Amino acid sequence: MIPDDFTYFAPNSLPAVWELLQRYEGDAKILAGGQSLIPLMKLRLASPAYLIDLRNVPGLTALEEQDGSLVLGAMVRETALEHTPLIQQRYPGIHEASAVVADPLVRNFATIGGNVAHADPANDHPAMLLALHAQVTLQGSRGARTMALDDFLVDTMETALQGDEVLTDIRVPRPLPHTGSAYVKLERKVGDYAIAAVGVMVTLDNGVCSQAGIGLTNVGATAIRAKQAESFLIGKQPDEATIREAARLASEAADPTSDLHGPADYKRSMVRTLTTRALRLAVQRAQAGEADTAGGGQ
Ligand SMILES: Cc1cc2nc3c(=O)[nH]c(=O)nc-3n(C[C@H](O)[C@H](O)[C@H](O)COP(=O)(O)OP(=O)(O)OC[C@H]3O[C@@H](n4cnc5c(N)ncnc54)[C@H](O)[C@@H]3O)c2cc1C
Repeated sequence: MIPDDFTYFAPNSLPAVWELLQRYEGDAKILAGGQSLIPLMKLRLASPAYLIDLRNVPGLTALEEQDGSLVLGAMVRETALEHTPLIQQRYPGIHEASAVVADPLVRNFATIGGNVAHADPANDHPAMLLALHAQVTLQGSRGARTMALDDFLVDTMETALQGDEVLTDIRVPRPLPHTGSAYVKLERKVGDYAIAAVGVMVTLDNGVCSQAGIGLTNVGATAIRAKQAESFLIGKQPDEATIREAARLASEAADPTSDLHGPADYKRSMVRTLTTRALRLAVQRAQAGEADTAGGGQ
């Protein structure tokens, strides 16, 4: 339970981070909240010789709406997402995902950037952010690039980050009027990783679904976007029959494995149930027009 020796750096600019990543290429790891990386190091499943802590790098803690998007700096802590009124009121799915990450001690340190960059299919944010059609910004010495989260998540614990790139922020399109979101998780006990979980977003236009997003947690190699279920919802009134069929399609998108938590068929069936619940909740929220409250306020 004691990590191998390592050298610790806490640079105070992104160029300094890039320089260290280049200098120690292959031997260095970025450290954010440390809530995934440090346990791996203690178990000696990871033994980076150099740790580059982002805590002193300015500009990574934005938590605000800007130019039509919610901007979440990579170093925004779970506890901030959980307690900020803007998130609670206008992005309830993100709020619900944060509130079920581990326990308050972990949430005080853990960051949204680390949760996404770790690319663990059991992490809660990727699926919710897929449902919200999020984009990520990567910055390295050769410039910045933006991509859909779908393209960033390549495989289990594998992302599109290259060379000296750092994930600097996550952008979520500002919700249109009559948009609702929800995140529903099945866990064995409070604080556990999900057996399965589902994040959902719907926008209603005159009672008809004009936009939909569905993301699945821990039922495949990465968080999964249930695209057929999303397409099925578009142009339909989200009545109970429609919700149930969308949930069935979402369960078909799941690709779980059998393990100590249960057989694959059980998990697929849970995805169906969780999608039904998440869609009902998101539709209720969209009908209440909660995303209309422009600004939200912090
Ligand atoms: C007891 C326990 C229970 C947990 N339960 C849950 C749970 O239920 N749900 C859940 O979602 N998570 C859970 N977690 C994981 C937790 O949320 C982690 O904090 C999160 O997965 C990683 O965030 P971090 O900021 O701690 O990242 P770190 O651990 O610091 O980093 C994780 C990885 O991401 C890389 N990285 C971090 N930030 C960046 C960046 N900006 N750019 C590029 N690479 C980066 C690091 O190099 C490392 O490889 C749990 C953790 C613990 C200890």
